[in-house]
Amino acid sequence: MELMYASTRDAQEKVTASQAILRGLANDGGLFVPTEIPKLNVPMEQLAKMSYQETAYEVMKLFLTDFTEDELKHCINSAYDSKFDTEEIAPLVEADGAYYLELFHGSTIAFKDMALSILPYLLTTAAKKNKVKNEIVILTATSGDTGKAALAGFADVPGTRIIVFYPKNGVSPIQEKQMVTQKGANTFVVGINGNFDQAQTGVKQMFSDAALAKEMDAAGYQFSSANSINIGRLVPQIVYYVYAYAKLFDNGVIGNGEPINIVVPTGNFGNILAAFYAKNMGVPIAKLICASNENKVLYDFFSTGTYDKNREFMLTSSPSMDILISSNLERLIYRIAGNDAGKNAALMKQLTSTGKYEITPKMREQLKDFYGNYTSEKETAGVIRALYEKTGYIIDTHTAVAAGVYGKYKADTKDDATKTVIASTASPFKFTRSVMDAIDMKYDSMSDFELVDELSRIGNVTVPQAIEEIRNAKVLHDTVCDVEEMPCVVKKFLGM
Ligand SMILES: *Cc1c(COP(=O)(O)O)cnc(C)c1O
Repeated sequence: MELMYASTRDAQEKVTASQAILRGLANDGGLFVPTEIPKLNVPMEQLAKMSYQETAYEVMKLFLTDFTEDELKHCINSAYDSKFDTEEIAPLVEADGAYYLELFHGSTIAFKDMALSILPYLLTTAAKKNKVKNEIVILTATSGDTGKAALAGFADVPGTRIIVFYPKNGVSPIQEKQMVTQKGANTFVVGINGNFDQAQTGVKQMFSDAALAKEMDAAGYQFSSANSINIGRLVPQIVYYVYAYAKLFDNGVIGNGEPINIVVPTGNFGNILAAFYAKNMGVPIAKLICASNENKVLYDFFSTGTYDKNREFMLTSSPSMDILISSNLERLIYRIAGNDAGKNAALMKQLTSTGKYEITPKMREQLKDFYGNYTSEKETAGVIRALYEKTGYIIDTHTAVAAGVYGKYKADTKDDATKTVIASTASPFKFTRSVMDAIDMKYDSMSDFELVDELSRIGNVTVPQAIEEIRNAKVLHDTVCDVEEMPCVVKKFLGM
């Protein structure tokens, strides 16, 4: 049976998995969601012995039902190969009683690689399947990590181009350097004078601009999205939660069926939604712990039932979570509205017009699986320092936000017995200055690359290849534009 994907805003719109991946966003601005969450029927004893790639196949075949076995295995094996610096792909590291699921062993040392290394293969396979003749133009807004991971994934992939917009003053120096040194004739990187939300809104507007789509088509192009709203990113992210559970079981940490908690440092709500889908597939997950930084719009939502983005936008040391509109939350809202596209569309309309909406008590009832909290800037630094001093293990700022919230969760609920996995979303080498300052302010006088070497020394970990590569790399992209100029910049790059 084919699993279909419906728009969260229009009950009439239903497409196949490959079409949903190609389109990124539905015509009405809604997000594609599977019409049901398939159940994972592989016995745990079997899952426990599977490689990451084998696990990926078992999970993804249930969601991408119009891909053949060969196609899917080709996508999986091309993505999860020696680009990752460990065969485990996503290793678990125990530190101070929690299990850190390290999702940063791919080519750009952040968790976005988990999905963006496979998306280009899913997308080009989907294009072939649907007899697409146009060149595919990936349009992406990034708060830092998506941009580089998408660039690395799509660079020189035939039949594709990629354009990345990032907030000029809203990403870390290493993140910026990683992007502006990107090679590949089909890549284009643009800094915008604005924040991430403005970049994302600009991209969304281009996606829903019918006149622009027509012009593009005439020139032999069509847009697709590498943002976490693309179902082709969400599905691969479910895999590592299944894998983590199976490995904990295999290592004797948990018994079969024993529930675990999952803590996710959250921005656009993609990663934690994948954990929610894993739970709905049957993985025994007790609480989904949603961790925010000082942009705590999700914490406020979980504690009040009102989503309100009307607030000051904070620049924090965890920039990939500096987000006031968590796009993927829409998929959860749709679901708790009883898969009612009309109800969801009305709420999203309120969000656009007034910047906020309130869900009903009945909808709130269904959020019991979630626990939300946030970690302040000061607390984040304290978490990094304390964990390092206690165990020698060094985590990045985003992961520290999650670890901080896990601490608050335990204090709040007294649940310290449930085994807990913390999604570790970036290598500390990606946010070296914030991490080293957290450990000791004496490091602040060092240059960025001196800090890299010092982090390697005190943490006893080798400098990742991704960092070595940019030490001496040349800047290849220096375009900066205002938010209003984004469509012009795109056309210019495409020679239109
Ligand atoms: C993108 C990102 C996040 C947030 O993930 P979402 O899926 O957007 O919630 C957290 N940490 C890091 C390092 C990221 O790059």
